[in-house]
This record gives sequence, structure tokens and C-alpha cells, in this order.
Amino acid sequence: MTDKVLKQLEAWVEGNSYHEEGLCCPDFSCCNGDLLSLEVRELYLRAYKRNDVGTMWSVESMTLSKMAKSRGVDIESQLGKASSREEFLRLANSGEI
Ligand SMILES: [Zn+2]
Repeated sequence: MTDKVLKQLEAWVEGNSYHEEGLCCPDFSCCNGDLLSLEVRELYLRAYKRNDVGTMWSVESMTLSKMAKSRGVDIESQLGKASSREEFLRLANSGEI
């Protein structure tokens, strides 16, 4: 965990989304302006602080599948392209998925 990411997440919980070193907020609201509910944002921040990757991934995958649906992308088959969560997020961030 880095201070920069923590600051980004804390600002995001406050409703202020921005990119940090090429990284999107967990809900990509810095790019598409579509914020998750405050409840979910707080849940994610708590999970981040205790390194609860499972909860973080649930929030991220929920967001990604919502975005994918709105773009007409089949998220299940796209998920198969990535060998890990990090790889998936990298692909998603770079627009390859
Ligand atoms: Zn972004």
C-alpha cells in the first residue's frame, strides 16, 4: 500500500475522483464520472486498509461487469484473458479489455 493510493482512495470516498499515476479509482469514476455509493466506497477503503483483496476484487469486478454491460462486452470471456487480478486490472486500465 502506498500513501498516494491511500490518499486517492480517501478523496474518492469523499466524492473527489482522480487518476493517480495512471491508476483509476476502483469504480473508474475518474474517467466515467459514475461513482459507486458512499457505502460501497467506504467498504472498499476499509478493505484496502486491511489488505482484504477478496472484498476489493468484489467491488472492482462488480464495477467492471457494470461497465462492460453498458459497452456490450462479455465480461466472462474477457476475464479469461487475464491470468490474475493484477493482470486483469492492468488490461482494463490500459483499455485492452
Ligand atoms: Zn480513471
